[in-house]
Amino acid sequence: MDYIIGIDVGTTSTKALLYDLDGKIYAKANKGYTLYQDTPDMAEEDPDEIFNATSQAIQEVITKANRQDGKVVAVSWSAQQHSLIALDKNFKPLTRTMTWADNRAEKYAAQYKENGRGLEMYKRTGLPIHPMGPFYKLLWFKNEKPDIFKQAAYWVGIKEYIIWKYTGQLKEEVSMAAATGLLNMKTVKWDEEALKETGVKENQLPELVDTTYKIKGIQAEYAKVMGLDKDVYFVMGATDGALSTIGVGAIETGVLAINIGTSAAVRSFFDKPVIDPKARLYCYPVMKGKYLVGGPINNGGIVFSWAHDALFGGEQEAAKLLNIDSFDMLSKIAATVPAGSDGLIFHPYLGGERAPLWDANARGSFFGLNRKHTRAHMIRAVLEGLVYNLYSVTLALREVTGKPKAILAAGGFAKSKLWTQIMADVYESELTIPESYESGSLAAMFLAKMSLGLEDNLNDIKKYIGKSNTFEPNPKVYKKYRALIPIYLRLSRQFSSEYKSIADYQREFANDDDQD
Ligand code: ADP
Repeated sequence: MDYIIGIDVGTTSTKALLYDLDGKIYAKANKGYTLYQDTPDMAEEDPDEIFNATSQAIQEVITKANRQDGKVVAVSWSAQQHSLIALDKNFKPLTRTMTWADNRAEKYAAQYKENGRGLEMYKRTGLPIHPMGPFYKLLWFKNEKPDIFKQAAYWVGIKEYIIWKYTGQLKEEVSMAAATGLLNMKTVKWDEEALKETGVKENQLPELVDTTYKIKGIQAEYAKVMGLDKDVYFVMGATDGALSTIGVGAIETGVLAINIGTSAAVRSFFDKPVIDPKARLYCYPVMKGKYLVGGPINNGGIVFSWAHDALFGGEQEAAKLLNIDSFDMLSKIAATVPAGSDGLIFHPYLGGERAPLWDANARGSFFGLNRKHTRAHMIRAVLEGLVYNLYSVTLALREVTGKPKAILAAGGFAKSKLWTQIMADVYESELTIPESYESGSLAAMFLAKMSLGLEDNLNDIKKYIGKSNTFEPNPKVYKKYRALIPIYLRLSRQFSSEYKSIADYQREFANDDDQD
């Protein structure tokens, strides 16, 4: 029997899954790495630590599965977006990898927003104006680290670096290239203007290839350590955002994929580039006639985790004693208060926000508190506020693309029946949630099958997705959400003028100790 490994190089860890050609999973492995945050704006990782974690994850699934009845024919790649590494002429890293969470290029994104150039670049490349983008990170390097900028022979992301190390080939597939902000989304070539502005030459960037492009053969020494055949195919795959959308089956134009994991996202495929006149949404080419449009959201499940830790320490202890999941316990507590939390509204922007605000200074708030409100209201308001936020990104998407045809959802939030029901009720739409969690690596595996000529239609991934659960909206609660959401949206606009002042205050007094 033949096998395929789907890899997902995430922000905190790399996951590897070993599949047979029918999509059955034989083994999983997960290897973590360090996020370096020496200053609040920095978020770097060590490319070789990630490379080693990836090798270990591949080795572990092969060992765990212990299948002597065939071989791994392909390894296919999903990865985090917007990372940037400078390499010298011998392909040795001159820097660590700056992740999407690194905000040091904020000044350059702000300048481009201010002078209108950012909007022009967005219209060419589909990258919203934000320091996460390698386009802005390159401006930062050029101005703030000129020595490294001059020394750099190549600029790559983490997926390109890892694949180069195994195969000796420097290639970049189009979806990851689009996430750099250096790719022209219409011509699907490196964008001349973006290269001119950053001062990077085309020969300093990887060669562009399709998501199903395959490289035959890897360095023998690595193959041996991992237990792979040295003639294995490496299939380029795509970004984690594109693959998790494909992996839940949101393939047709206008079918919405919503994910709430640690972060969150709203995405949909379209058959041509979609430009948001307000630059709130990205648009990236993924495959011929398939453009992914969406909004990435920082504040997803991480905010539920914050409320869980900051407000419910006692319940966590109780859950431990009762041997039940403390997140499930909080969902049950939230379910004791009515939809709309008796008029308590929570804005979830604890750590700044990308879509829909694109404001690194945004902060969270509870609004509408009265003496009737309890912690149960607060936790329900948190779950509802996270959904209102996703809904507001969906409204932006609807402005440019029309009403979604169907909604598929996934991510850790789906463990809570209450939370999924809140989503169906706020969206006033049926919600379908696949039971399988591994949508990114499943789609990577499927792309490998397409690349090997074993599948030819992206829609056929649906046969591998397995069982789904459906949630129907409850008409009895529509009117409560319909009345609250406009207040939530208006407040967002009103608060926005004060975000900078409160964020500046928090920075200024961050380390003040006034106990003496
Ligand atoms: P990642 O994006 O890192 O893969 P997951 O998809 O696993 O993350 O989602 C993690 C989030 O899921 C956590 O931040 C938490 O808010 C949420 N979560 C975890 N357990 C539960 C639960 N039982 N009910 C609802 N939400 C949960």
